[in-house]
Amino acid sequence: MANIKIELSANLKEKPADESKLSFGDLFTDHMFIMNYTEGQGWHDPRIVPYGPISLDPAAMILHYGQEVFEGMKAYRAEDGRVLLFRPQENFKRLNRSNDRVCIPQVDEALALEALEELVRIEKDWIPHAKDTSLYIRPFVIATGPHLGVRPASEYLFMIILSPVGPYYPEGLDPVKIYVETNYVRTVKGGTGMAKTGGNYAASLKAQAEAKEKQYTQVLWLDGVERRYIEEVGTMNVFFQIGDEIVTPSLDTGSILPGITRMSTIEMLRSWGLPVVERRLSIDEVAEAYDNGTLKEVFGTGTAAVISPVGHLKWGEKIMNINDGKIGALSQKLYDTLTGIQWGKIEDPFGWVVEVK
Ligand SMILES: *Cc1c(COP(=O)(O)O)cnc(C)c1O
Repeated sequence: MANIKIELSANLKEKPADESKLSFGDLFTDHMFIMNYTEGQGWHDPRIVPYGPISLDPAAMILHYGQEVFEGMKAYRAEDGRVLLFRPQENFKRLNRSNDRVCIPQVDEALALEALEELVRIEKDWIPHAKDTSLYIRPFVIATGPHLGVRPASEYLFMIILSPVGPYYPEGLDPVKIYVETNYVRTVKGGTGMAKTGGNYAASLKAQAEAKEKQYTQVLWLDGVERRYIEEVGTMNVFFQIGDEIVTPSLDTGSILPGITRMSTIEMLRSWGLPVVERRLSIDEVAEAYDNGTLKEVFGTGTAAVISPVGHLKWGEKIMNINDGKIGALSQKLYDTLTGIQWGKIEDPFGWVVEVK
């Protein structure tokens, strides 16, 4: 048991009265976890304290060079009251892979998980009860050392904050319209695409804003060199059912974020005996499959939406209406099974769920 100091808040906030009106990421709980890193000393002073602003030196390196990483996961309330996490060890493993890419010192994964469980335990009344709601968890690390020369910082903060969130699709699973981005790129081979680091998201905002203006929900990113090979959709990984095969871009370019929902989807499809292939997939091949009638389903995967069916793809002048704009049988089955496991409604044969006791 790590020595996590706990300081409880003296004035607790009101919990939301109407859980059906919860949005994403606007409301935060009463407490947060925080831990410091100092060169020569390592990580120290893990503590849970009242939620609130932190003070930073104006020369803190995060403010100038964006040296930071983050994670996203959820705590779910089962009908029988159990509090469940979904593969949280994978998030802290990925946090450390992201840390490595942007020269942030490694975090003790066991300590991070213990801190998270303790924080969720303290905040368990903040986990909403309504159907399809959850408590979103945001661990992150920022460079706080004050210095203006470009080099890795010598001081950091690791924090975890929590936010109750509503259903991603209040009206049920609705296929989204996706704009295939041919001008901007998110990242390139050799870049930081495999890391959950802020700069990737700053780089994506303009494409996202322009797609919104054209009434599209998200963009589909193509590779940064040839603008041909499919990478991701918005902040989700992406799958294509072509004929009887399910194809998702392989991770070997290092430009794609290795999603935990992606990994779970692959493992689940294989457990059902369905053929899943991780390989390079070009937009031309998708268009060809559309034209010859073998493109059956397209869907995104990620913690926020779990499974997000794509009903419409626009690539230049070409419009592809997938499965008549309706949710496909495979997307629906994946959604029902993954969310069933996450909310503890169905048995978890994979050992993915971790109960916070
Ligand atoms: C977080 C993220 C994903 C999805 O990862 P999950 O672990 O499944 O939530 C996919 N792509 C990007 C760019 C992301 O930031």
